[in-house]
Amino acid sequence: PATLYIVPTPIGNLDDISARALATLSQVAWIAAEDTRHSARLLQHFGINTRTLSLHEHNEDKRTAMLCSRLHGGEEVALISDAGTPLISDPGFVLVRRCREEGIPVVALPGPCAAITALSASGLPTDRFLFDGFLPVKMQARSAALEVIRERTFTSVFYEAPRRILDTVKAMDEHFADRHIVIAKEISKAFETYVSGTPAEVVEWLQADTVHQKGEFVVMVAPAPAPDEELPPEALSLLKSLSAHLP
Ligand code: SAM
Repeated sequence: PATLYIVPTPIGNLDDISARALATLSQVAWIAAEDTRHSARLLQHFGINTRTLSLHEHNEDKRTAMLCSRLHGGEEVALISDAGTPLISDPGFVLVRRCREEGIPVVALPGPCAAITALSASGLPTDRFLFDGFLPVKMQARSAALEVIRERTFTSVFYEAPRRILDTVKAMDEHFADRHIVIAKEISKAFETYVSGTPAEVVEWLQADTVHQKGEFVVMVAPAPAPDEELPPEALSLLKSLSAHLP
């Protein structure tokens, strides 16, 4: 069978497309896109004339069968989403799982992803983190998700829609008012902004100007202090004076 390529596309700045992504998109027989009209603009910008077909959450099962039979027939396919890395809070899982089951080679190109980009610039610990996708929309499930995040001793990263960002950060203030959080807005675009502080400080920033609430957001939450970080003050000052004598 031919190969399925997973091809990340820019999350804002078009220059973030890789040379390999452009070559792959030009060479394959088909591009499966989340929204063909949206992607047409990107492809046109780069002079790519490859045929496209849609693959979104409502037709993924049907399209998967069709694409797998084309791949078995020797036609290469590239999968793209509206922005960033396909399958990361985007369609494609059903297709990739099926390709793996059927022995169709899958090659993923490295590239833009809002969560990873935001995390790397956040100043929060990156050695361990958990990506929550989008939090549940329903209030109760949302609260439960925020409670889980509160307990974690590693960084949390999730996506948020502009219409919910203010309510979400307000809810964070109710669940963990003293925790350090960071929001990354409009990454790689003209008004890229990172705002950090307590949830109340971030709420204040969001409310300072209605444009602050528009655009795309990644939300990150610092880890809960590990139990061994909660040493009594005497122990901490002893540790500090001891460490002064270390090489
Ligand atoms: N697959 C994409 C990726 O790899 O990042 C994510 C797709 S998800 C449907 C869209 C969400 O990603 C947005 O609601 C926002 O939370 C986040 N996002 C996408 N582009 C962004 C950007 N330029 N700045 C900040 N967040 C962004």
